[in-house]
Amino acid sequence: VAGIATVRIAQTSQRIVRTLIAVASGKGGVGKSTVSASLAIGLHRLGRKVGLVDADIYGPSQPKLMGVEGSKPTARDKVLQPVPTPHGVPMLSMGQLVAPDQAIAWRGPMIAGALGQMLDGNWAAQDTLVIDLPPGTGDVQLTMVQKYRPTGAVIVSTPQDLALIDARRAIDLFVKAGVPIIGLIENMAGYACPSCGEISDPFGRGGAEAAATELGIPFLGRIPLDIAIRTASDAGNAGETSAFAEVSQRVFDWIPKGG
Ligand code: ADP
Repeated sequence: VAGIATVRIAQTSQRIVRTLIAVASGKGGVGKSTVSASLAIGLHRLGRKVGLVDADIYGPSQPKLMGVEGSKPTARDKVLQPVPTPHGVPMLSMGQLVAPDQAIAWRGPMIAGALGQMLDGNWAAQDTLVIDLPPGTGDVQLTMVQKYRPTGAVIVSTPQDLALIDARRAIDLFVKAGVPIIGLIENMAGYACPSCGEISDPFGRGGAEAAATELGIPFLGRIPLDIAIRTASDAGNAGETSAFAEVSQRVFDWIPKGG
């Protein structure tokens, strides 16, 4: 009928996704991506409707961890459509948008643009996004806290890392921006013997928990250095070990009711 216009309502994530959980670390290689994938799957199993955003520009590893390497998201009305994964957690990754060797040469505004495209993807079916941030305190983290205001942040560190200034700087970035710290996860804490399962502690025990107490942030738990975690990740089955069940439960319990 002439004169009647169809009004389209843009469905952006900002209207629908209620809980944004940023996963951060002071430096690379501490298992932040492994924790992000496992946490996303853990929260999904606990009943949240979870999406995963891989914003780690320096090493976007989520397509591999989630078993969808080589997949590309499509765009509909310029809105990115998350890629389904075998784990029930759809995802978007910086690695699906651009070749990683190109991405690291990007300037601030391009990085912010790509982050925005992923966060404003079609997350209409999700109530929770887990965001795997790059290590450190660069442009992506700043854009994330200033523009998208995460509901909370999870910090990942290794036992050796805690004495270093890096992890504290990462925590500081969120605290200064008024983003609540959900807590600290100590990864690669102790070594799980592949033959007997016994956990030994080459770097001592209890350091991370003490550091969390000193910093006034909750301690979410320790994940051992376990070859089963690495082989599961390499096979695209991150989160398919029980190692992350407890920390996922703690994060789940933290999410505000109705959030
Ligand atoms: P980051 O995202 O901090 O750079 P990754 O999650 O990519 O770190 O982990 C680095 C490497 O360590 C990967 O090969 C991963 O499979 C492995 N890894 C991470 N956490 C553990 C763990 N708890 N036990 C064994 N291997 C782990």
